Amino acid sequence: MLQQTQVGIVLPYYKDWLRRFPNFAALARASEAEALHAWQGLGYYNRARNLHATAKIVATRHCGHFPKSIEQLQQLPGVGKYTAHAIATFAFDRPVAIIEANTSRLLSRLLDLRIPIDSTAGRNALWNAASTLTPKKAPAAHNSALLDLGALVCLPRQPKCGVCPVKKFCRAKNPKSLPIKRPRPGTKQLVEKHAFVVEHDKLLLEKSPARWRGMWILPPVKLDRLKPSSLPHPIYTAVFPFTNHRVALKVFRQRLRKIDNGKCWFPFRKLDSIPIPSPHRRAIDALLGLNVSSVHAQR
Ligand code: SF4
Repeated sequence: MLQQTQVGIVLPYYKDWLRRFPNFAALARASEAEALHAWQGLGYYNRARNLHATAKIVATRHCGHFPKSIEQLQQLPGVGKYTAHAIATFAFDRPVAIIEANTSRLLSRLLDLRIPIDSTAGRNALWNAASTLTPKKAPAAHNSALLDLGALVCLPRQPKCGVCPVKKFCRAKNPKSLPIKRPRPGTKQLVEKHAFVVEHDKLLLEKSPARWRGMWILPPVKLDRLKPSSLPHPIYTAVFPFTNHRVALKVFRQRLRKIDNGKCWFPFRKLDSIPIPSPHRRAIDALLGLNVSSVHAQR
């Protein structure tokens, strides 16, 4: 949950997740839709899909026991080098290095690394340095200390060098200029058009085949063939970020023509119990919550 997401946002989700799925067996028994529903609002839903798939693998291939070796860990869905090493060190106190945003910044400054840390050479330099520093004794405490040092002392904009316990080892001449990163690709603008179709007390939704695979969204609608003068006005617009995109979500009231595969009617009262990604959930809440009477009147 903490990949790409802050601790404060994660905590209530973490507690609720453990209440619903206290162990791998419970998660393996649940459907993917239940896992996605518990994850709803956290974003990056592949994490939930991977965790659910991992629970099934632990239950079936590892007889319910979580694997301990780095090689086996890296075979689990969504587990790369960092996650495998983090699990190995924090769960099993194994002497392996971990490199993430905080330790990357800290080590790039300690080494005065003047190459991009997101290049192959930069990543190798950081992993090599971190491996050399990792002690055989109490590696989990050492790795925790590095994470805390990066998160609390060696801050991105205002490193607290005056109180830093490793200052005498630090080679950084201009810490604020580090770490160096490759230029990011610019933000891309996207417009996504979706239909709002209601029938009595039901809303038509479609199972997302792509970005939000397994979750329910307002059905996409193609209006590109219409002349600009005959384009309908959206009844809801909002902008949300997605990776390096800024997505303009536009929702249009539509009449039902035919229901094809993947689409389904949901009674309004059932909408809370199915997984819906946050941007579409907000649109539905706004359109149904604030405007139920006019939705019916204009249907
Ligand atoms: S001395 Fe400053 S730049 Fe160096 S590790 Fe400590 S906080 Fe970071």
